[in-house]
Formats: sequence, C-alpha cells, structure tokens
Amino acid sequence: MMRIILLGPPGSGKGTQASLLEEKLGVPKIATGDLFRDAVRRRTPLGLKVKEIMERGELVSDGLTGQLIKEKITQPECHGGYILDGFPRNLNQVKYLEMIDSSRLEVVIDLDVEEEEIIQRLSARRVCPQCQAVYNIILKPPKKDNKCDNCQADLITRDDDRPEVIRKRLQVYRRETQPLIDYYQKKGNYKRIKGTRSVEEVFKEIWEWLSPYLANSGLRAGK
Ligand code: AMP
Repeated sequence: MMRIILLGPPGSGKGTQASLLEEKLGVPKIATGDLFRDAVRRRTPLGLKVKEIMERGELVSDGLTGQLIKEKITQPECHGGYILDGFPRNLNQVKYLEMIDSSRLEVVIDLDVEEEEIIQRLSARRVCPQCQAVYNIILKPPKKDNKCDNCQADLITRDDDRPEVIRKRLQVYRRETQPLIDYYQKKGNYKRIKGTRSVEEVFKEIWEWLSPYLANSGLRAGK
C-alpha cells in the first residue's frame, strides 16, 4: 500500500528508475510529464492548454496537474501502491497529494545529480516518439544511427531539451521543487541517492534502501 516518490532535477534518471521499480514491483508508475506529453501529441483539450507552457519549461498549473494526478491515483490499479515520477513539484502539490490520498506509507527517493552533468545529459537525450524509449547519444546510443532500437522510428529531441529551455527548467526546479527536499527530509522515510553512477548501480542502492519498507508494505518483488 506504498507510495514511492522520485524526486530530483530534470534528467536525473527519475523516469528510468521509476520504470525499473514499476517492472520489479508490479505497481504503476505515474509520470505527469509523460501524461502531459501524451495529451499534447493527441491534441486533447488538456494538451492544447499545456503545450506552450511545457515548451517554455514552466510548470503547468497546480489545478490541471492535480486533476490529472487525482484521476490516476484513484484508479483501482493504484490501490496496491504506485510510483510517482515528476509529481509533486512544489509544496502546494505536496499538500494536495497528502489531502487526496493520506493513508499510505510514503517513501521518497531523491536522485542527486549536479547541474553541469544535467545539462550534458539533457542535451544528449533523444527519445522515440513512438514507444517513448529514451537514449543518450553519448552514454546510451541507439544501435543504428538515430533510429529507435525497438521500433526503428526516427529519434527526436524533446522540445524542452533545447539549451535555453533546459536553463529555464533548472531555474524552476531550484525555485519550486528543491524546497521539497527539506520538507521530506524532515518528514522522514527520505533517501538521497547519488544519481551519477550507472543505471544498475543506482537501482541497486534504491532497492537495498527500499527493502525493509517493502517487507512491511505488502509489496514484493517479482509480481
Ligand atoms: P518532465 O517530463 O517531468 O520533465 O515534465 C515535463 C514538463 O511537464 C515540465 O517541464 C512541466 O511543464 C510539465 N510538468 C510535469 N510534471 C508537472 C508537475 N507535477 N507540475 C507542473 N508541471 C508539470
């Protein structure tokens, strides 16, 4: 019945680690950024509202974001637990989450990566517009030049991974999201993990730290 929150700046590896946790625990990952991007692609009313905000690297309003997250976490598949990637992003969202789903054990994993490294990572990030696989042209290049390994689609650079937008997103992170570190540190069940090692090493550390919580939460690996 646990909620796992992944904190950390854009490009710190939250999405990658959330997917690994999702696979291992068999509970859904909810990534607000992915949900918004999907709405933009499908040109839904929500997508039309958030497109330009995202392209500028700013935060979508708490009202729209809250509505989206509430719709997701009240679904039956989230009853057994869920993993949040990219939410909450400010203190208002923290309070909202605690209000709509208060009775859970909550653990927070904060991926720590320095800004210089973030800028390098995001500039080298490429994504598949079809299956959403994520690559890094330096650290994790696709097998064939600029083609997705899974579906052969041409890889693209996310609109908000352009250098001027990256700077803006980092600014927003520092101002809005960094205060959450202090909040969750005081609240407890918080772990900062160095996010600059390999995906496997980071995951191993997350898993080791999570294990005692998992034992008490009814969640188990390999579901
Ligand atoms: P991400 O993929 O998490 O980097 O999110 C991409 C963009 O989606 C952000 O720059 C925001 O514009 C928007 N977004 C994602 N999550 C949130 C959130 N919790 N609150 C507000 N805006 C968000």
